[in-house]
Amino acid sequence: MNERILLVEDEEALRVTLSDRLRAEQYVVETAADGIDGSDKASNQPFDLIILDLMLPGRGGLDICRDVRAAGIATPILILTVRDDTVDKVVGLKLGADDYVTKPFVAAELLARIEVLLRRVPTHSGRGEYDFGIFCIDLRRGQVTRDGKPVYLTAREFQLLRYLIERSGATVPREELLRSVWGHSANLLTRTVDTHVFSLRQKLEQIPNVPELILTVSGVGYKFVGGPGR
Ligand code: CA
Repeated sequence: MNERILLVEDEEALRVTLSDRLRAEQYVVETAADGIDGSDKASNQPFDLIILDLMLPGRGGLDICRDVRAAGIATPILILTVRDDTVDKVVGLKLGADDYVTKPFVAAELLARIEVLLRRVPTHSGRGEYDFGIFCIDLRRGQVTRDGKPVYLTAREFQLLRYLIERSGATVPREELLRSVWGHSANLLTRTVDTHVFSLRQKLEQIPNVPELILTVSGVGYKFVGGPGR
């Protein structure tokens, strides 16, 4: 449990009611009241689910949906649409949203949809928490701590780290990382992987220039070696 949900909704009453209800269900809820803040949070923080209103000041929900997917973030997106707005539903699903709920809705319906979407999140299988001595990571909650203090990782950095940890000890080629972490739709250079590894090292390694956790395998890719308990 304790999945992290981002709720982007400009209607204050709905935002407050809904986030209270979600917290009562033990979800960790972050909110955004406009499209700019929503897009920023959705693209830069790790979430297990994003609930997105479509009509928003600043940046529309469909644009945010596009931003998130263009950034290669695979977090499930549930869009909130106004009744009978079939076009928006279709466009939303095409842009990468996973499901939609029509306003007005009953909370029970929304909660049921959320459960279905969260069940698809692969982080729910296997172990959730790892202690690498230098840092700890809780895959379920999307949290990383170093010396007991939270370390801020972007959603992509988190996904990259998780991918490497789950293949601990194995050399993972850059191409595989691009394909699996960024998604095949992303038309990116393998250099992208290097810059993200660089950033992860700055945040996690004791001496970033002399990495002990994420090693470079020359000409191939990277290898995570911080086995649990080491
Ligand atoms: Ca709205």
